[in-house]
Amino acid sequence: MAFEGLTERLQNAMRKLRGKGKVSENDLRETMREIRLALLEADVNFTVVKDFVKQVRDRAMGADVLEGLNPAQQIVKIVDEELTKTMGDEAVPLNKSEKIPTIIMMVGLQGAGKTTTAGKLALKLKNEENARPLMIAGDVYRPAAIEQLVQVAAGIDVPVFQLGTDVDPVEIVRQGLAQAEENHNDYVIIDTAGRLQIDEQLMDELANIKDLAHPDEILLTVDAMTGQNAVATAEGFNGKLDVTGVVLTKLDGDTRGGAALSIRAVTGKPIKFIGQGEKMTDLDVFHPDRMASRILG
Ligand code: GDP
Repeated sequence: MAFEGLTERLQNAMRKLRGKGKVSENDLRETMREIRLALLEADVNFTVVKDFVKQVRDRAMGADVLEGLNPAQQIVKIVDEELTKTMGDEAVPLNKSEKIPTIIMMVGLQGAGKTTTAGKLALKLKNEENARPLMIAGDVYRPAAIEQLVQVAAGIDVPVFQLGTDVDPVEIVRQGLAQAEENHNDYVIIDTAGRLQIDEQLMDELANIKDLAHPDEILLTVDAMTGQNAVATAEGFNGKLDVTGVVLTKLDGDTRGGAALSIRAVTGKPIKFIGQGEKMTDLDVFHPDRMASRILG
């Protein structure tokens, strides 16, 4: 990941304050204008930008920052803290069921990285918790989707429950859960169908799977490279399914950062993981404070 443009512009905006013993309201206004433009250019949601700028300005004006020692440094600190807050403050762990299996339902548009992320997550659980996950192949619309999941799972040595493409996905999930029960799997990861766009039929199907499976976690996978479209997708899925968390994929290819900075504030749902590459090990817990530091460079 490299939010080069954003990092450079934020640094430039704040560099101008450095070396000033005293920062005037005018200086602050100019800095805030540049920060606002930097965020908009990075494709951050307009309302998020507005709220962010207001928060930073209010804090800078309020706490005698302008008159205090090192005003520039204090403003950098405020920007850092507010970026962190905008992205959710704290890392939010995966929801876990008190009794096995913990059921994780993966949802998202086609191509967002759902199947890849399902595999990455299964591997992470295996490696970090010695878990024995079972994956369920619930995308019956593309034969290639099942094949892809089977391949991903084989690469990380995780079993897949599948009934091909001729059985209703809700029924597949029902039987898959029964198998997990029988085999005492501690996690079940359900891969579901994606589409190129949100449509009602898909949402109804996902809602039916949700009603049957009562997942502990509904993880929405969105592609960071699509910027504000990722945010709109997140709103669409969340409105229908009340997701519990977001996985932001392809951050390694994202050069702007708008999705990372907007999704939490717009949807109220935490980004739980970030995908930063195509390898099965390229999945990390999302830490808002670390991301803020990376953005500020
Ligand atoms: P699905 O249709 O949502 O199941 O998407 P896939 O899992 O098939 O992923 C679509 C493409 O995105 C594949 O080529 C993946 O290798 C790629 N991909 C997924 N996650 C990431 C990521 O974090 N970084 C990069 N660079 N590629 C990713």
